[in-house]
Amino acid sequence: MKSYRKELWFNTPTRRAFINITPQIDECLRESGIKEGLCLVNAMHITASVFINDDESGLHQDFEKWLEKLAPEKPYSQYKHNGFEDNADAHLKRTVMGREVVVAVTNGKLDFGPWEQIFYGEFDGKRRKRVLVKIIGE
Ligand code: ZN
Repeated sequence: MKSYRKELWFNTPTRRAFINITPQIDECLRESGIKEGLCLVNAMHITASVFINDDESGLHQDFEKWLEKLAPEKPYSQYKHNGFEDNADAHLKRTVMGREVVVAVTNGKLDFGPWEQIFYGEFDGKRRKRVLVKIIGE
């Protein structure tokens, strides 16, 4: 069995952002040389997500609005976590959007359903953060 590991770095200029990282994951899969197996992609920070959905800008605005209703960023004082930090909302948003995805690798390709794309969801940005890519198989 082959095994591949890579860290991808992100530094978003805004507090929140959704980035389609499918091209980078495709590149990792090519680099790995693995044709049959599993590809795990996870955020390495507890205020960021990796999730699969449609690359449609209206939907991304809907996610932003929906998450702000569930866990509004402000006022910061509404959260117990915000004693020394201001990112309680980011922890909650990350939990809703998820930590990781696993995609099957078939014939050297990410075996997606229709319109599936992999996104990095940032909820407390403006600093360097990582995503882990682990691919196993043969
Ligand atoms: Zn925190």
